Amino acid sequence: MNVLVVEDEERIASFVEKGLRAHGYVVLWAQSGREALELAVRPDISLVILDLGLPDMDGLDVIRSLRGCGFTVPVLVLSARARVADRVEGLNVGADDYLAKPFAFEELLARVRANLRYRSSVASRTVLRTAGLSVDLLERKVTAEGREVSLSSREFSLLKAFAAHPGQVLSRPELLSMAWGMDFDPGTNLVDVYVRYLRRKLGRAVIETVPGAGYRMPGG
Ligand code: CA
Repeated sequence: MNVLVVEDEERIASFVEKGLRAHGYVVLWAQSGREALELAVRPDISLVILDLGLPDMDGLDVIRSLRGCGFTVPVLVLSARARVADRVEGLNVGADDYLAKPFAFEELLARVRANLRYRSSVASRTVLRTAGLSVDLLERKVTAEGREVSLSSREFSLLKAFAAHPGQVLSRPELLSMAWGMDFDPGTNLVDVYVRYLRRKLGRAVIETVPGAGYRMPGG
């Protein structure tokens, strides 16, 4: 597995690199946003670990550029910007996960593994069919009853989380973690709001409410 580490501070980059190497990952290092954009699109890159304070551009713009061109490689932000608002912004522009500096290497490693595991479990089935829906994970195309529906990228992430676990009850924290990469409760009703969006676009029956437990997509 090749991991791209985007970090202008050599000390941090080499700490991360040594740790990941010891666990069998191949690490590429980019020191600037420009370099990151060149390397991140290589097909052999499985994950990007991204600092936000880069010398030539903001890491958030790196994510925007990648997502704008349709690149779906998982991005884990590693940043000193630790406020909830910073994390939410990072996730909203398309990061998959967010870890604040200072960090413990064990936690970074666990998150790298979790992100790669989640990607490979969904990528192995590129078209999920359930509840009258077809969700094409690579093309990011959703068809409901034969009609193509356009979803925002966050709606798509949430639908993907449901479609990957048909018939299973998913709690709000689980959905936050799968669709937003949040392992903390931002104290909002984000999940409920987006479930509402999905129901509006795809029909009420697509996601069931399981009182006291969360939500479930029928089927499976
Ligand atoms: Ca920096």
